Amino acid sequence: MPAIVVVGGQWGDEGKGRVIDLLAQKAHIVARYSAGNNAGHTVINELGEFRLHLVPAGILYPDKTCIIGNGLVIDPAILLEEIADLEARGVPVRGRLSLSDRAHVIMPWHRLIDNLDEKLRGKGAIGTTGRGVGPAFADKVARAGLRIADLIDPEALRDALSFLIPYKNAVLEKLYEAPPLSLEQVYAEYTELGSRLAPFVADTSALVQDALARGETVLLEGAQGALLDLDAGTYAYVTSSVPSSLAAGAAIGIGIGPTQIGTVLGVYKAYNTRVGNGPMPTELLDETGVLLREGGPRPEYGATTGRPRRCGWFDAVAARYSARLNGLTAAVLTRLDVLDRFPAIKVCTAYRIDGRTVDTMPASTTALARAEPVYEELPGWQQDTSGIRRFDELPPAARSYVHYIQDVLSTPICLVSIGPQREQAITIKPII
Ligand code: GDP
Repeated sequence: MPAIVVVGGQWGDEGKGRVIDLLAQKAHIVARYSAGNNAGHTVINELGEFRLHLVPAGILYPDKTCIIGNGLVIDPAILLEEIADLEARGVPVRGRLSLSDRAHVIMPWHRLIDNLDEKLRGKGAIGTTGRGVGPAFADKVARAGLRIADLIDPEALRDALSFLIPYKNAVLEKLYEAPPLSLEQVYAEYTELGSRLAPFVADTSALVQDALARGETVLLEGAQGALLDLDAGTYAYVTSSVPSSLAAGAAIGIGIGPTQIGTVLGVYKAYNTRVGNGPMPTELLDETGVLLREGGPRPEYGATTGRPRRCGWFDAVAARYSARLNGLTAAVLTRLDVLDRFPAIKVCTAYRIDGRTVDTMPASTTALARAEPVYEELPGWQQDTSGIRRFDELPPAARSYVHYIQDVLSTPICLVSIGPQREQAITIKPII
């Protein structure tokens, strides 16, 4: 069976983690292919609540193999901490998790520069998570990165640091007026981290290729969302992941060919949220926005930074755009329960920009910032859906809403979720 990619269709936090958690029951391998520990998936199961930043959500099933692909940037201390936390909570990780030797490493200067750079940008700050992810991807592209294969080889590490430390110190001291880093200190710290990570390191592309050849089911877990993508998103308020967090990036970020992907599953919330800066045409700063943020059983606060998410009605212009860019074959609608209490529900069907009505995403971020949403109003259902498990038992207005979004996406919605718990899901059509 070709691989299945799960991607976020909006600005991230759509609930990909819980969708992966549901699908993982029937998969052999769950793999992450992009981003770093700026992403955060929340999964709730019988052991409690887990916030995973680097380890794929499949780890919560004891018989699944998990892979962190070459497309990620890894902060070694954070990954080791996440592994230790999982093991302390009774989740076995050793022997089940493999880390690509081609993934890049987040080094101390990346974290420093992330924060110094945000300050330097002033009003134009991107609102990054400050974890060093962006600078690590920038160095990957600038061919000044360090890979896991070098981290675990003390000689290669010293060699790389003897070039990188003076180079980065020049940047830190001359551009940011920050104190320099000590080569010996970084070397000592990172050889130690490398030796602890070494047992997990593998040629993960070969592992996935071999699993696909055996006919196993491979789930590729996206991070963030299409509207945060470096190429497709609201540039420059985007993530820096290379390869892209769009479905097309999954092949590169895990080391397979595009023909080895069979299903592209887009995850959408029943409304919109965004963390960090940048335009969001349907953002609501009134009490409706507060109700969307605070009204559900899981209030809208970032899984990684705890920042309040900006909330607003479903943006059909942006959703159609991301569905097409991802080439979706199926979709999931999450958090339908959050809309339970509204007497009427709005969907943004077009933007008014400088007196013109447009129904496509403008490339210009400043134009998008001036966009006023044109809304269509749909009837609400004002009924608790959290206990419903069959589609035909949803209130008619809720079913109509799901069909409406399905038409927007031109993609069948296969699953609807009506609460954060594993069982709070309605399967319309099995995905695996
Ligand atoms: P991800 O990064 O796409 O996995 O998303 P996050 O985990 O950052 O955010 C999704 C949040 O929504 C988490 O707190 C989930 O527990 C919660 N969640 C997921 N599905 C539902 C749902 O159907 N209803 C409600 N109320 N919360 C949900």
